[in-house]
Amino acid sequence: MFNYIIIKSKMAFISLLLLTSIALADEKEGRTFIDLPDIDNGYNIHVIYALPKDGSDEEYDLNNQISMLIYQMDKWFNNKTKKRLFEDGQHLKFDRTADDKIDITFARLDIDDSTVSKEGINAVNVIQPAISRLGFNDPKKVYFVVYGGANFDVCASSQLPGHVPISITANTAALYIPGKKSGSCIDNDGGFKPEFNNTTRYALHEVLHVLGVVPKCAPDHLVFKNEGTINDGIGGHLTISNDIMYSVQSNVTFAKARHLDFQSKNYYNHSNESCLDIAKSMYVIPTVDNPQLPTYGSE
Ligand SMILES: [Zn+2]
Repeated sequence: MFNYIIIKSKMAFISLLLLTSIALADEKEGRTFIDLPDIDNGYNIHVIYALPKDGSDEEYDLNNQISMLIYQMDKWFNNKTKKRLFEDGQHLKFDRTADDKIDITFARLDIDDSTVSKEGINAVNVIQPAISRLGFNDPKKVYFVVYGGANFDVCASSQLPGHVPISITANTAALYIPGKKSGSCIDNDGGFKPEFNNTTRYALHEVLHVLGVVPKCAPDHLVFKNEGTINDGIGGHLTISNDIMYSVQSNVTFAKARHLDFQSKNYYNHSNESCLDIAKSMYVIPTVDNPQLPTYGSE
């Protein structure tokens, strides 16, 4: 019995040592573990590079991979919004530092990779509470998590605020790198490259979801039969196949999705004032007077 206790406490000591050494190894020059003070009004898309407890650090927050991805997402969004509500288009309002870099936070999660990867499209619903436990739950923000680990089904997924009651938090979109199998971001979708490839397209698609796109009031909104979860694949898509908000799940031609509501009738710069419009979102700049927040389903 005595020996057992000693062995057990030795094991606890060793695992504490391991955890401490991982935490120390995560400390790297230029890396931040907090959301830096905001230079805007706090309503922004905050980016997190998150690793599972047992995940290896590829330094995507430090080696410009995430910054490049964000740049490509925003460049496409800006191009598609030119000569619409604003002559020069709009930008996604990512959380930035005073010198205009993306404020990327590094987060070591308290869950292991198998806990996340087996969830497939639902993995974001495990990641969101995990970042929340670390304090990333600012009600003004939405979170875009680049998760450095596996996912057995998808390259990216997100939560859909329009499909849950306001009491449930649905503020997170996630990209799984490297992912795995059919949904692999790297094997099938290009991964981190200085181009608007499918990885970039998936990431932008999911960020638009968490901003409230496609609202249920959109005339071409596509709703699947099995409603009830808060994830991609259930709602929030368009029936228009070359739009970036066409369903990723059932779509073999997603690579051809090249429009952002180009008819201005579903989610960008449309005329239905009581329906969410990304051109008037709090999370884009320039921002209109009286901007909108993502709409939740019901009380
Ligand atoms: Zn989707």
